[in-house]
Amino acid sequence: MRQLDVAAAVVGDEAPARKKQHSVAGRLLDTKRPWRRVIKAVLTAFVLIVTPAVILFGSHTSAPPIWISAANVFRRGGGSAPARSYDKLLNGLLADGFDKESCYSRYQSAMYRRNAGRKPSVYLVTKLRQQEALQNRCGPGTVAYSNALEQLKSGKISGIGSQECKYLVSISYQGVGNRILATASAFMYALLTNRVLLIDPSNEMDELFCEPFPNTTWLLPPEFPLTSYTNFSQDTVQSYSNMLRNKVLMKADVDDVPAAQLPVFTYIHLHHDATQDDNLFFCDEDQRLLRNIPWLVMRTDSYIVPGLFLDTGFREELTRLFPELDTVFHHLGRYLFHPSNHVWGLITRYYDAYLASAQQRVGIQVRVFGSESNSPALLEQITMCTQKRGLLPELHTEVEKSIVRAASQKSKAVLVTSLKSWYPEKLKSMYWEHAVATGEAAVSVNQPSHEEFQHYGAKSHDTKAWAEIYLLSLTDTLVTTAWSTFGYVAQGLGGIRPWVLYKPENNSVVPDPPCGQDFSLDPCFHQPPFYDCRLKHWAGTGKIVPQVKHCIDRAWGLKLVPTSTQK
Ligand code: GDP
Repeated sequence: MRQLDVAAAVVGDEAPARKKQHSVAGRLLDTKRPWRRVIKAVLTAFVLIVTPAVILFGSHTSAPPIWISAANVFRRGGGSAPARSYDKLLNGLLADGFDKESCYSRYQSAMYRRNAGRKPSVYLVTKLRQQEALQNRCGPGTVAYSNALEQLKSGKISGIGSQECKYLVSISYQGVGNRILATASAFMYALLTNRVLLIDPSNEMDELFCEPFPNTTWLLPPEFPLTSYTNFSQDTVQSYSNMLRNKVLMKADVDDVPAAQLPVFTYIHLHHDATQDDNLFFCDEDQRLLRNIPWLVMRTDSYIVPGLFLDTGFREELTRLFPELDTVFHHLGRYLFHPSNHVWGLITRYYDAYLASAQQRVGIQVRVFGSESNSPALLEQITMCTQKRGLLPELHTEVEKSIVRAASQKSKAVLVTSLKSWYPEKLKSMYWEHAVATGEAAVSVNQPSHEEFQHYGAKSHDTKAWAEIYLLSLTDTLVTTAWSTFGYVAQGLGGIRPWVLYKPENNSVVPDPPCGQDFSLDPCFHQPPFYDCRLKHWAGTGKIVPQVKHCIDRAWGLKLVPTSTQK
């Protein structure tokens, strides 16, 4: 409904009492002409000021529900603070001009973040716009894409494929956190090698996220000729390491291999069981061989970006793109992963109901693996970590002698995500049954869902998982579980260095200390290569370059080091 139509409707529907006032006004207009203009002005002001407010804030108008809830946050601005301005394009990270109804989260997310996040470099922004143009020139629906498919069907490189359009297909499997990190890694590699990124739409990838590139799709269309690509494994004869072993690909004279001698595609196996030969992918020489192969299909369930720093060619470009090195996933995650409208509804409704009005929000991710039973030791680890680090208030152990309401009571909303309800229920009881030692904070504990077990390929399960990851990223302080990609995604999106609950050596003993603050925002590469490409022998890769070192939650994993702390 247009604004003026609404105004007319509001005036037209007036109650009889209001009509009576009008007739009094009409009489005045007839007899005392000098008042006429004044009354007219008052009525006009009513129509222009009051009715737009009805449109914006009334809950029964035709405005979409998500806009209404966004308006609530905008008005609240966290407690009674005045509404703050926000930059919906995240300092140029996001392109303007998308249809906003197709994806509300893309331009509304900034309104929900108290922490505005880090600024992307101008070079990264330029590179993203170039990638969007490439995806448009070569993506599905273009002549270049049809020709590239024909070339792939023919099984050999011919004149038909364009030199400019090369492709990377990323296979989607494992949990939501793994899939997000794998897709971000594939995108990083595509940016570095000027390839078009296409993602396997299976496992709800087409329903959890909005399209990240304007005017094109990143979903691999169904007519893809490698029909069994989702089953590719270590044994696939077209894998890069098998092709090397079978001398289909030769490393001698890597720069001079004629195109006709290259395969039209190869499969990159970087699943967590990747062998040393598969991991040659991270070496300069191998990258030179791969760069002229038109189609690559990649399988990874890891965040491989720290491994790309082992390649000298990529290292220089990566440090230029990310002057603050530990922000790689922070930027790529916020650029690529916009919750679809259904997931955004889950996020915003929960946020508005349980988190928006709190002065402080603490996220606690309790990852329970397999059929682990409820663990009193883990509960103790969580309370020790949160109370000793000052994230949650300590409790009075005795029955209180007097009850005084503190003059400046703070509200803390604790968001617990877990497959089990036992942990949040215990925390909730603790803060109900005991007074907090300082008396200054009211603590509420909330859990959006408890799905009990991890389900594979179940839509509503995945949408809840993605919504909860995102909600964790909207908190001010985060506690995560060691080894969990679910937590890594939340910390990266939120730009938060989390407190990581260390993995206990014995499940019934609380580790000492129970947790430590991560030195980096970026996720951990769980299964990195153990090979020095330059020296061509086994090596611990945590000491080869200053940009990466071992993770705090996984001694052999690799992660990016913030630029300011590199030695
Ligand atoms: P990771 O296994 O901890 O690295 O994280 P992933 O996200 O890759 O896989 C775990 C999967 O288990 C998630 O994607 C969810 O499907 C499910 N899951 C684990 N923890 C939670 C949780 O706290 N909430 C919900 N809704 N699902 C969870």
